Amino acid sequence: MSPEECIFCQIVAGTSQAKIIYQDEEITAFWDQYPAAPVHILIVPNKHIPSINEVAEEDAYLLTKLIFKAREIAEDQGVREKGYRLLFNIGKEGGQSVYHLHLHLFAGKHILVVKD
Ligand code: 5GP
Ligand code: ZN
Repeated sequence: MSPEECIFCQIVAGTSQAKIIYQDEEITAFWDQYPAAPVHILIVPNKHIPSINEVAEEDAYLLTKLIFKAREIAEDQGVREKGYRLLFNIGKEGGQSVYHLHLHLFAGKHILVVKD
């Protein structure tokens, strides 16, 4: 798929709508269209990288940046201490459906069966 056809490239470029909560020159964070938890936010690199499998060594800092931004968003959402889940789906059998690298941030009481 070319970046022009990629829904997340379109969201980054502002040509498709999304609830964007953060954007800079390298990364964008927006709410998942079909939230699977009370908090479900996607953090993506602005440049088109299909998945973790295609991350080049010189882009390694981008992964760190995605994780640090997810942690900051968790703080803003009031879940940093309560807990949250970060997830990359990779490839067909890994459950990936959009082939533009994205880090899922899930939070809220339904994400895990927690034993007290
Ligand atoms: P994956 O299954 O590839 O790890 O996750 C893709 C995620 O993108 C899914 O949770 C899906 O709900 C979300 N998604 C797919 N299309 C759109 C869209 O157009 N806008 C937004 N905000 N989220 C989308
Ligand atoms: Zn893309």
